[in-house]
Amino acid sequence: MANESVIRALKTKSNSLNLSSRKITHLPEVFAKLPWIAVLKLNNNYLSSLPSELMCLQKLTELNLGNNVLEEIPPVLKHLCCLNKLYLYGNKISHLSPEVLEGLPNLELLNLNHNRIKVIPAEIKKLCSLKSISVTDNHLQQIPAELGLMKSLTEINFTNNKLTQIPQQLYNLSQLRKLYLARNNLTELPEGLGWKNLKILDVAGNFLSVFPVGFQFLRLDELFFEGNCLVPFTLMESIQEKEVLALKELSARLILQENTNSFSVVSRALPMYPDLQDMLSHWGQCGLCSQPFLTTWLECVQFINTKKHMGMKSSQSVPVRVLLCSYDCFNRDDHQYYGLARL
Ligand SMILES: [Zn+2]
Repeated sequence: MANESVIRALKTKSNSLNLSSRKITHLPEVFAKLPWIAVLKLNNNYLSSLPSELMCLQKLTELNLGNNVLEEIPPVLKHLCCLNKLYLYGNKISHLSPEVLEGLPNLELLNLNHNRIKVIPAEIKKLCSLKSISVTDNHLQQIPAELGLMKSLTEINFTNNKLTQIPQQLYNLSQLRKLYLARNNLTELPEGLGWKNLKILDVAGNFLSVFPVGFQFLRLDELFFEGNCLVPFTLMESIQEKEVLALKELSARLILQENTNSFSVVSRALPMYPDLQDMLSHWGQCGLCSQPFLTTWLECVQFINTKKHMGMKSSQSVPVRVLLCSYDCFNRDDHQYYGLARL
């Protein structure tokens, strides 16, 4: 049956060959005679390897090897440099060979769902054209920081793995539009949110208690976060009204404040004191009044309404981490309706 399809492809010179669900265990060597093939579907068979003759398919842009019995990405694929879409879902792959990844500079879509992968090697960054990576239902425990170097990525799907954290470098992916991290073991998202273009974020079924500082500035269309350990909505009021700042903190705040005016004596003098500059470089900004401070005075949770503050269609309450400069800010009446709770 498979041979009939190959003969037909030979006769018609069709650039697409569909050999899915044919109970194929080995590919016929005749493939060397089909160099014009662009799309090859070999999914739902019993392939455990691919013959080296496949390297003759130099025009191949799409290859579907889903639902076979492969234990690794077939080494011959590193010679198919035109490959654009590669489907390897539903196999028994446990190891991603860095060598194969280096041979696929034009790959835009990589689907490795339902395999046994524990580690994504740092060489993944060699897939410099990759737009979409999907590794759902595997055994991933961590993802490499190098993923943050893959600036073309618009979609990442790591649903149902064993991730405990994600690298902060993922925030460098300014083109990222969809991120699926549901059903992992995440306890927090790193501080320093980027993702100006993120539209869909799915972090349902993790162990998150609060979202990072500035989360309300994302412009999401969809957010999924059910099944986490989020801090409960509790409105709090502080009985303490004034605090006494240490001299170091007081002077730091004064200098940081003065330094915002480029004509001030402080901002002209500061370059002469590199140690002081270094110390002040770790400054933070109050989440309510925007005033600068050196040492975080209060770490709080602010309950943000997704409709009101993030412009989403649905109205949900999301706890977001917020750093405050003083009890005065904590007790500011106009922010009580957000619900501020001390961490
Ligand atoms: Zn403040």
